[in-house]
Amino acid sequence: MIDPAAAGRRRGVAVLGSTGSIGVSALRVLDRHRDEFDLVALVAGSNRDALDEQVARWSPRFAGLACGRGDATIASGPESLIDAATHPDVDIVVNAVVGAAGLDATLAALHAGKRVALANKESLVMAGDLVAAAAQGGGGELIPIDSEHSAVLQCLVTQGTPPTRLILTASGGPFRTWPDHRLDAATVAEALNHPTWSMGEKVTVDSATLANKALEVIEAHFLFRLGYDAIDVVVHPQSLVHALVEFPDGSVLAQMGFPSMEGPILYALTHPVRLPDSGMRRFDPVAAGSLTFESMRRDSFPAFDLGVAAGRAGGTAPAAFNAANEAAVTAFLQARIPFGRISAVIDQVLSRHRATAADSVAAVRAADSEARRFAVEAIA
Ligand code: MG
Repeated sequence: MIDPAAAGRRRGVAVLGSTGSIGVSALRVLDRHRDEFDLVALVAGSNRDALDEQVARWSPRFAGLACGRGDATIASGPESLIDAATHPDVDIVVNAVVGAAGLDATLAALHAGKRVALANKESLVMAGDLVAAAAQGGGGELIPIDSEHSAVLQCLVTQGTPPTRLILTASGGPFRTWPDHRLDAATVAEALNHPTWSMGEKVTVDSATLANKALEVIEAHFLFRLGYDAIDVVVHPQSLVHALVEFPDGSVLAQMGFPSMEGPILYALTHPVRLPDSGMRRFDPVAAGSLTFESMRRDSFPAFDLGVAAGRAGGTAPAAFNAANEAAVTAFLQARIPFGRISAVIDQVLSRHRATAADSVAAVRAADSEARRFAVEAIA
């Protein structure tokens, strides 16, 4: 891969999922670094009005609407994600698509030798080995935007020694202190009221069920090539320490900062170097106050153990877990099932899923579709 900075030009960026929470944050970061980065392509999901505003502001060479109607200037359909991800002027693809829909763009970008700044953790959960093979075959590289994984990478980057253990932090979500008997009837508004992070709806509900943390354990397994026994999770309600990394001598490094996705986004664009950014809120230990850590309530939030078990089972099981979770979260957001049924739907789907090797996109997609069918039956 040519280094475009060395060649004297700005690095071209595509933002997929540009009108979502991460996409909007990415544009804020890019706006502060227009001398370093050139926004080449924007693809939104279905929010045409917000996309039109972004196009008017940025005049990208390519714009698309993945789930909506285009016109002479706006491409449409899922292939617009691929066209943006493989655009010849693009060096870095920010993949902030929500859910399984992001997989093809991740694979295409890596095959085309791009850096993928990955917020779409589902890509790795569904097809971690295929994603790694695409990077190796095409010369692309994968840099996480997820805050915990960005933290791990930042702790590892200056170390010559592989880690012995990762400890991902979890805020615990809005229901961290709720008694078990109240959880089943938690409302959508309550689930979306996250205490520390402002995020999109799907990941916010995943944070409330702790399914998000299971997705992140699987993501860490594939990104950092560590076994599941070497990846722990601790609840840290302040969300100031994003991850801790243990080395063979027992020493532990942590990465800290006030919760904002702009830090991980900027780092994914610039890794392994750092750019000055006066727009980033400076850390203040006194304002941060106390840091506390506690165990996860695994029995109260069973989606976590279900997800990690699917990760350990391997093959297509994580793809089935992801699909079941997406279907259940959608049903919860549409008030078709109560909060407490989300993990029950996942459980029912996984108990019917027969995992096979996840050695082709077709196998992964088949597992994904079957799990969604099982989920529909479990929801009905
Ligand atoms: Mg995260």
